[in-house]
Amino acid sequence: MTEDNRESLETMRHSVAHVMAEAVMALFPEAKLGIGPAIADGFYYDFDLPRPLVPEDLVLIEEQMRKAISKNSPFIREEVDRQRAREIFACQPYKLELIEELPDDQVLSIYRQGPFVDLCRGPHLDVTGQIGAFKLLNTAGAYWRGDEHQPMLQRIYGTAFETQAALDDYLHRLAEAERRDHRKLGRELDLFSIHEEAGPGLVLWHPKGALVRKLIEDFWREEHAKRGYELVFTPHIFKVGLWKTSGHWEMYRENLYSPMDVDGQDYIVKPMNCPGHILMYKTRIHSYRELPLRWAELGTVYRYERSGVLHGLARVRGFTQDDAHIFCRHDQLEDEIIGVLELARFMMKTFGFDEYQILLSTRPEKYAGTIEAWDQATATLERALRRFGLPYKIDPGEGVFYGPKIDIKLQDALGRAWQGPTIQVDFNLPERFEVTYRGDDGQEHLVAMIHRTVLGSMERFLACLIEHYAGAFPVWLAPVQAVVIPIADRHIDYARQIEAELRVDGLRVQVDARSERMNSKIREAQFQKIPYMLVVGDKEVAASTVSIRLRTGEDLGPQPLSQFKAIANTAIETKR
Ligand SMILES: [Zn+2]
Ligand SMILES: [Zn+2]
Repeated sequence: MTEDNRESLETMRHSVAHVMAEAVMALFPEAKLGIGPAIADGFYYDFDLPRPLVPEDLVLIEEQMRKAISKNSPFIREEVDRQRAREIFACQPYKLELIEELPDDQVLSIYRQGPFVDLCRGPHLDVTGQIGAFKLLNTAGAYWRGDEHQPMLQRIYGTAFETQAALDDYLHRLAEAERRDHRKLGRELDLFSIHEEAGPGLVLWHPKGALVRKLIEDFWREEHAKRGYELVFTPHIFKVGLWKTSGHWEMYRENLYSPMDVDGQDYIVKPMNCPGHILMYKTRIHSYRELPLRWAELGTVYRYERSGVLHGLARVRGFTQDDAHIFCRHDQLEDEIIGVLELARFMMKTFGFDEYQILLSTRPEKYAGTIEAWDQATATLERALRRFGLPYKIDPGEGVFYGPKIDIKLQDALGRAWQGPTIQVDFNLPERFEVTYRGDDGQEHLVAMIHRTVLGSMERFLACLIEHYAGAFPVWLAPVQAVVIPIADRHIDYARQIEAELRVDGLRVQVDARSERMNSKIREAQFQKIPYMLVVGDKEVAASTVSIRLRTGEDLGPQPLSQFKAIANTAIETKR
């Protein structure tokens, strides 16, 4: 979308917000108006109303809006002084509050359409008839000015597009996003839960979710070992002094939890794994010949996030990073970055992400170290990106305080971006902790350090995977790969035999021996997104076969068990 298109869409959406407010005033003449801006995907307007809105109200408001739009009223701009504005909005306390806050000499503009008038900078359409296709979506409570000490207003969200087709497309994506919502699927598939009584943003992994996570972690460990990484473990708490040395205490304070007292010393739960790895490195002298060292840890860290931004597994307060630190010489940096980019690309491909965006984030306002070191690190990342050969964009000022970074945003099946791999070059911590190696000149030199994750965190990555696959994990990750469905009780023994034989082969199989009808068992297995359903009845028992159905509804008919094993094993090996 071009900038012009975006602006005209915004103008139209804001105009629809005014028409919605006009309709609400027609239905609730005593309504008090808050504000009603256009937002990323539509618009909203806040109202103080005599009663809570119910979904049927939105239908009535939409009808009223259509009536108003059919009159094709012009949007008329008028400039007024403060006194006149006070008179016009005499019955609108929230508007009066806004008026009082403007500078004395400011010329105020108001917009009218039909009987409605609003304090507004504009711009607006010429006439209401230019409004395209719109829809009111939902309501939510919203404090006036986002302040919990202020009255709670009712916010109505809506959206509008130039054409009905564009609106339909958007609504379809919205419904699809809801269907794929990892919080909903996490419940339905029994993967994880989060409890107010345990603490918001703290995840409990149920057996099925834990299994998926373990499979990803096992794969991750194997792949790292193949690429010359070694695994390490570090504790969950460290003394505060370590975070003072690292700079986190000063630069990252708002994300750190309060210290706890241990034998009169302050400790905090770790927000990062880096200092632990650095201390390990420093336990002995390293020669230039043994670099690079690549140390990986599935390290659980804790960072404070405001409760308002927490979101299922995607935004949490405790999470496990698939972390690694590479200690290398400066002349090795570029190759090491390429190595991480290759690993990241391999991981993304394995999990079915073919589209992604690469960003190079540069020096933020709050930074540690010298500008020269920053420029040097940024240039190294850029050289590596150019050699890697994929297109990238610069994201100015978005680096972390200790260095520039490469961020890779994964694009899921709905085209939405998720934060994925991150590669950071750090010249700062090596200096602060005096992390050195002995060069071929016999002198000590500062190492270059790379911080990197290729999945991000297990929590966020799983949120992304659940939504990307809509809960239907590929066979290698599916917590239950096949369910054997006996048609009648007399087929249960045969079903158990099948189960036992497949388990020997390492497949994750269950028998659904409940006394439900076959169709309801199939529905349940589809709801659980189990890849294979093996239906067994008289015919299958007699012929020693299984009737294979896929979760997509496809029916492969009766097959010898060996044939099913071949199908399942191919899917597992190819990770499809
Ligand atoms: Zn306005
Ligand atoms: Zn780190």
